[in-house]
Amino acid sequence: MHHIDVHMEADILGKNTKLAQKNFEILKNHGIRAFDLLGAIGSGKTALIERITPMLINRGIRPGAIAGDAYGDDDYNRIIALGIPAVNANTGKECHLDAHLVHHAIHDLPLNDIDVLFIENVGNMLCPTDFTLGAEKRIVVVSTTEGDDVVNKHKMMFRECSIGVINKVDLAGAVGADIKRMENDMLHYNPEIKIFRTVMKTGEGLEPLIEEILS
Ligand code: MG
Repeated sequence: MHHIDVHMEADILGKNTKLAQKNFEILKNHGIRAFDLLGAIGSGKTALIERITPMLINRGIRPGAIAGDAYGDDDYNRIIALGIPAVNANTGKECHLDAHLVHHAIHDLPLNDIDVLFIENVGNMLCPTDFTLGAEKRIVVVSTTEGDDVVNKHKMMFRECSIGVINKVDLAGAVGADIKRMENDMLHYNPEIKIFRTVMKTGEGLEPLIEEILS
């Protein structure tokens, strides 16, 4: 029985990867650069969009977003409050976005009015890992309040991402988190990963992060 499950999973992932490539091409044809935002609930993914949006607009770059959540429209409402185009993508029982959902979301966006698209995945560190969506970079956001062993517990996620954000660094002392350990763990699993320390609440550390995202 087990080998059948493995084949089915490989088939699903294969189809997803193909559709993700199609998404990438559609976005590219519209001159849109897309970025996945991955990480746990409360890590700071939506806050990153909130912080970065006015900074991008100041540079003449028009952001848009897909808000992936299992249920509800909490993130979506925060994003449209920024005055940028967004689509709410509810996954229901699924704990991750897939390329198919993103494909539909893309068709609901005004693609000619967007230069940079953030795709915020469902908040968890496991399910989204294998499902690429068509973005050019994957960004993982962790916070010190998740514990400094959070990276070590989710090594697969960090292997898939080119940017690692450690958020809430101002709270590290209060929760006894060793930021250096988190950075070392990230580099251990992905020597190429670019790491940034941020405080989304105040905007600390966002300038260098934005430069890396757009590089
Ligand atoms: Mg969020």
